[in-house]
Amino acid sequence: MSELIAAIATPPGTGGVGILRLSGPGAARTAAQVFRPKGTRDLTQAPDRQLLYGSLTDQTGQVIDTGLAFVSRAPHSYTGEETAELQCHGSPMVLSLMLDALCAAGARLARPGEFTQRAFLNGKLDLTQAEAVIDLIDAETPAAARQAAGQLNGALSRRIEGIYQGLTDIMAHFCAVLDYPDEDIDPFRTQTLLEDLTNQQAALDALLATGQRGRRLAHGISCVLIGRPNAGKSSLLNALAGYDRAIVTQIPGTTRDTLEVTLELGGYPFRLVDTAGLRESEDPIEQLGVARSRDAMAQADLLLLVCDGTQPLTEEDHALLVQATDQADTILVANKSDLPGYHSPLPPACQGAHALTTVALSAKTGLGLDELESALARLAEKNLPQAGAAAAGELLTNQRQTEAVSQAVQAVGRACQALAAGFTPDAVLTDVESAMAALGELTGKTIREDITRRIFERFCVGK
Ligand code: GDP
Repeated sequence: MSELIAAIATPPGTGGVGILRLSGPGAARTAAQVFRPKGTRDLTQAPDRQLLYGSLTDQTGQVIDTGLAFVSRAPHSYTGEETAELQCHGSPMVLSLMLDALCAAGARLARPGEFTQRAFLNGKLDLTQAEAVIDLIDAETPAAARQAAGQLNGALSRRIEGIYQGLTDIMAHFCAVLDYPDEDIDPFRTQTLLEDLTNQQAALDALLATGQRGRRLAHGISCVLIGRPNAGKSSLLNALAGYDRAIVTQIPGTTRDTLEVTLELGGYPFRLVDTAGLRESEDPIEQLGVARSRDAMAQADLLLLVCDGTQPLTEEDHALLVQATDQADTILVANKSDLPGYHSPLPPACQGAHALTTVALSAKTGLGLDELESALARLAEKNLPQAGAAAAGELLTNQRQTEAVSQAVQAVGRACQALAAGFTPDAVLTDVESAMAALGELTGKTIREDITRRIFERFCVGK
């Protein structure tokens, strides 16, 4: 039997409205002990989700505020349990007194994510939908919010369920065969089963392929700023972000660590990463910063190599440019176009495997930033095509999801090989079962405590 839990659902600090939530047996009765409706109708008798206006009181019956309350009875609530919600003014003191009153009336404080965890355990959401709740709360760009909303609506769950059902059908055929071990499998049937398995493998491959796009959509296309110290990387990050995220000084080596800003540019989500600048240094802290810069560079989707346009490109710049274009599409940003003696460098002849664009600008005056934004949007279009945006919500957006689908892909691959090589049905069955187990872990059909705990740890109290 689950306990009655209570929490403040609105963020800390003052606001127009503050909300407290209750979930579990007796939620309506407990809320009614601290809520006196203005009308004749008692909260415990109110229809589901009908707002009542009244006074909010502490455990001694003293009025603390006026506000609204409603109840939702199981199973038609967020958690699937009986729930109640109290709305008061967004005062931390009122909220704290109300929470004390609810605890005095028998509720206990909820743990982070406990409401959503109960929704999952009561079958209101699967695990990918629970992940979408926190992704939606954490979304930093409109694209990330749309993807999370689609996933919360069950778009990804339905796609996985389709494959799961396909594998279940195949399992059913194999089990039927195993029930009659003396009869050989009809070769025609083997061929049909192989085709069915291959179809599911193609569906899994297509799902796995959404991982990169989903990651970029949810977390932004990673765009790493590299270049020699003092070229103007931090100034450029601040100019693009529209506020002073990074410290800018004339002292080379000021940025010791990588700094990130997630923002939308040209309609695409970007995660801009400012690095410590790449140069040889004796300073151990700067050396660590340079090592982090190299790590960030290795994981970048796009690179912005920033140089000071008042100085000629050095050999070090050329070497970095080759390294950059070997690894990802790169924009050479010739900064400080506002200064006398500025000359935008010509794109050097030596280039790596990826595209190189040159943009002249001044991070200080903002001149040329539009051109950089357009160049970024063009490269983003290549990395994150808008086509298929309608499918938002069907993409894999984190490592847990891609790992699970990757395990399923491998298991179905092994099953296909085994069947084609004429293995006995039980050998094939084991692999199909492993694929289904991996998908089960993905949606939470198969509950694994360690996985669910890690997911709900990301949540705040009250959600
Ligand atoms: P970082 O080391 O590459 O991050 O370079 P910073 O952004 O810290 O800039 C180094 C110095 O160059 C600072 O004094 C900035 O004010 C200056 N700076 C950066 N961009 C421009 C620019 O476009 N024009 C001018 N005149 N100065 C700039």
